[in-house]
Amino acid sequence: MGRAFVNRFSWSNSRAKLFSRCLRAYWWRYYGHWGGWSYSADVDARVAYRLGKMDSLATWAGSIVHDTIQEAIEELRDRGTAINADHLQGRAREKLRQGWVESKSGAWIRRPKHAINLREHYFGDGEALSRPATDTTAAKVYGCLLRFSTGPYPKLLKRLRPEDFRNVERLDSMEIDGSTVYVKPDLAFYHPDDGLLWLIDWKTGRPRLEDDLQLATYALFAKAKWGVEPSRVRGVLSYLASGEERQVELSTDALHAARESIRASMQAMKTALREPDENMGLQQDFPQTDDKSRCSSCNFRQLCTGSEGIPGAILAGDPL
Ligand code: SF4
Repeated sequence: MGRAFVNRFSWSNSRAKLFSRCLRAYWWRYYGHWGGWSYSADVDARVAYRLGKMDSLATWAGSIVHDTIQEAIEELRDRGTAINADHLQGRAREKLRQGWVESKSGAWIRRPKHAINLREHYFGDGEALSRPATDTTAAKVYGCLLRFSTGPYPKLLKRLRPEDFRNVERLDSMEIDGSTVYVKPDLAFYHPDDGLLWLIDWKTGRPRLEDDLQLATYALFAKAKWGVEPSRVRGVLSYLASGEERQVELSTDALHAARESIRASMQAMKTALREPDENMGLQQDFPQTDDKSRCSSCNFRQLCTGSEGIPGAILAGDPL
């Protein structure tokens, strides 16, 4: 007999971000989409599930950079394969080509979880799809990979033993106040010179305040999962689009503040639920944002405005 899926409450940085952006979008992403992977689900759940898997050009470009670096580090760790910019850029080019074809052809209709579905294709954003705009996206991907390949990490990582690597982009979790907190550190390893646990987060966008909280969350995880004290951790934000790098303070106080911030965020999410113990939320308790400037970059706007005139919805045959 198949395993029954249960929608359990959990916390992640991306979930917190969406909760503060629009409660209705949050509801579609974490509640309204439930069961939408099944052909027999109602149409709103199926559409919400599909839209929840959608990427923007910018997030897709970021994923390609992360995936390509992950593969390169794993090959270096497992087989000693040297990291080479041309090779990484070639791989990224193939991912860009394949994803573009999937998105345009509607491969996501049958495989919403695995095929690329770009928001700009789906909603028919002609300007973002223009040749200069897409060339800029591709150039950014290649530039980030060049900066990684020619930066300090390939040489440093080559010196590590396989057991010095703790995590390369693997989804993991810890418990805070009885709830699961998901984390996915880009890279965690023990440095051969200082013996510290280094936590590196690759960024393809501009620096943001929440980047520090994300690294502090990973340091909390390092203590919970591997028993590494904050004084033995070094956190680094590596902004690959500019080449800038910043060390983040991960003191006991900083981690305490991060834990309190996560607790407050979880509490706010649970308070919005009709049945917190059952993790059950009703759509009417999660209103649409008043700041309509947020809607143009929202994956879920089809569920607020209806399907009419939306190319992706027409391609998928959604009812108007
Ligand atoms: S379209 Fe606007 S109101 Fe509707 S879910 Fe998205 S952000 Fe919220």
